Amino acid sequence: MNESDSERLANYLESYGYALAQNINTAGAVILTTCAVRQMAEDRVYGLAPQIKANNPNCKLILTGCLSGRSDVQERLKDVVDIWLPIFSLPKLIKLLEPERTEINDETGSYLSILPRYSSTFTAFVPIGNGCDNWCTYCAVPSARGREVYRPAEEVLAECRALISAGYKEITLIAQNVNSYQSDDYNFAQLLKAVAELPGEFWLRYATSHPKDMSDELIAVMAGNQKICQHIHLPAQAGDNEVLARMNRKYTREHYLALINKIRTAMPEAAITTDIIVGFPGETHEQFLCTAELFRQAKYDLAYLAEFSPRSGTPAARMIDDVSAGEKSQRKKALDEILSRTALENNQKFLNQEVEVLVNSARGERCFGKTKTYQTVQCQGDKSLVGQVVKVKINEVKNFGLYGELVK
Ligand code: SAM
Ligand code: SF4
Repeated sequence: MNESDSERLANYLESYGYALAQNINTAGAVILTTCAVRQMAEDRVYGLAPQIKANNPNCKLILTGCLSGRSDVQERLKDVVDIWLPIFSLPKLIKLLEPERTEINDETGSYLSILPRYSSTFTAFVPIGNGCDNWCTYCAVPSARGREVYRPAEEVLAECRALISAGYKEITLIAQNVNSYQSDDYNFAQLLKAVAELPGEFWLRYATSHPKDMSDELIAVMAGNQKICQHIHLPAQAGDNEVLARMNRKYTREHYLALINKIRTAMPEAAITTDIIVGFPGETHEQFLCTAELFRQAKYDLAYLAEFSPRSGTPAARMIDDVSAGEKSQRKKALDEILSRTALENNQKFLNQEVEVLVNSARGERCFGKTKTYQTVQCQGDKSLVGQVVKVKINEVKNFGLYGELVK
């Protein structure tokens, strides 16, 4: 989401005659798009912001993203940040930079209606909304990004149409919880179907589904349309019902596992990935073992494993962070080992098979890309293949990568 926001910021400023600076130390303005999900990301901003201002005292330092609305951050960085910009106030940025300017585009519309300057020529993120109303107790996003707001379906479809006619090969619809999408009589499943039915050859992805409201309709739409990549990112966060309740996730492990079962029945080849937080306040060893058991049963292809870190202002920050750092790291390691096994097992089915790969980078004589189910693939080839969908015959599989030869 931050990447997409930065693309909108770039296009917005270019529309007022600004251009990308070549050197941060001589730039007239520097924008920090911040993330508040983990403490580490926040700490980086505390180091970076004073450093930017020290090296370039004349620049206007603009801080946007998840930290921009936090009063403790504003206090801490008050001497170095010139403009605090909640991202939904993007249409007002020019007034803040140049108060005397008179020709100004509409400052009242949604910031999501501002088109981005895409950083890639073949793959694009298309936000369908912003904000989150779910209030998971550990998460900084709802207070940082505000209530859920969704883009009109026609606007999303128009952006996708333009990308397809410009030759984009991959479109990813994004929102904190796509399943809550509702606009112009479209729910998310209907929107996804409408995008997939646009004429043209492209791959369609989305992120992220909340397990509490991923619908049967969405599973059926995914199973029934070739253009929709069969990769589902379904954050479990934990596998113990008591921990899930204290996280305010509003589903049970039984519900989650039933969902996995429905997905695997409808799409036996689908890849399923997840997010897990280990060491949530009060998580006992037995409760962690329930998470490990769910993790084993779900047979994930990939997982983002995080150690709980208290985020200022969230309910979980007021709970006792009583799982030691050593224990959190042990729990993470245990899940990592399960993941290595399930990912390798899942990847075996690709051995000696031909797969389609969208090449996203090249180094020397090697190309790197992703399959429709999000496996990373390496094969021989050069940068002329970047942005193309190629066929690769897989001759070696590892836990997090497939290796093969280009099929001519
Ligand atoms: N909307 C998505 C969902 O429902 O799961 C997740 C978005 S969140 C910005 C990205 C991930 O960061 C979460 O899935 C969670 O695993 C992790 N995360 C968020 N807050 C955290 C915290 N306080 N400590 C550790 N990890 C955290
Ligand atoms: Fe955060 Fe929960 Fe919203 Fe995801 S669903 S962004 S974890 S509050």
